[in-house]
Amino acid sequence: METSKQKCSKLKVHPNKSFFRNEHILGGFPEPIYQQLRDHPGELQELAQYLLNAHFPESIHQDILDAIGLNMDVPTTSEATYTTTRRARDPRFRELIMDAYGHQCAICGFQVLLKGRSIALEAAHIQWHQAGGPDIVVNGLCLCPLHHKLFDRGVFTLNDHLRIQISEAASSNSQAFKDWMLVYEGREIRYPKQEKYYPEDAYILWHVEEVFLGELKG
Ligand SMILES: [Zn+2]
Repeated sequence: METSKQKCSKLKVHPNKSFFRNEHILGGFPEPIYQQLRDHPGELQELAQYLLNAHFPESIHQDILDAIGLNMDVPTTSEATYTTTRRARDPRFRELIMDAYGHQCAICGFQVLLKGRSIALEAAHIQWHQAGGPDIVVNGLCLCPLHHKLFDRGVFTLNDHLRIQISEAASSNSQAFKDWMLVYEGREIRYPKQEKYYPEDAYILWHVEEVFLGELKG
């Protein structure tokens, strides 16, 4: 039977996350490193925090820790994130995204002003910052915390017409899921005010291939 490695070399492509998922690829440390980490919980936590910061957006750190059964506190962004991230973030990214989208969620339009300032909105990267995604408006979306989380977990993505597609892997019996997610299936995003700020295909393609839990419909 053909191994995953043979399939990769035959395809002559760098395998993406879908490949690893579909092939049920598992990884692990060599025995001496495994023993070292098992015997030194402090080092294990330090390494885990480094890997999270280097490769995954903060919105899904706790989910990953839960999935692998590692019980540790996730520092807040202000406490730790930037110290081990390889690239500094552009501090204007958030402001530029907010302005481009008129301070509303690109999916649901959520917006609330508290004493004149918008709150509970986030500047999401389409191609994650940790994966080399640049801090530019065409690689961003203004999202409420709920839709930011669902986007980073691959529950939905965008197609090349900037329409929302929801993963078939996501399900719920709750009316709220219908109201806050399913109702947007096939709808276009709420566009930025200027066309030059529309999300670019290359970043969306990255999200489809690396994050979205499913296949795009034609
Ligand atoms: Zn929203």
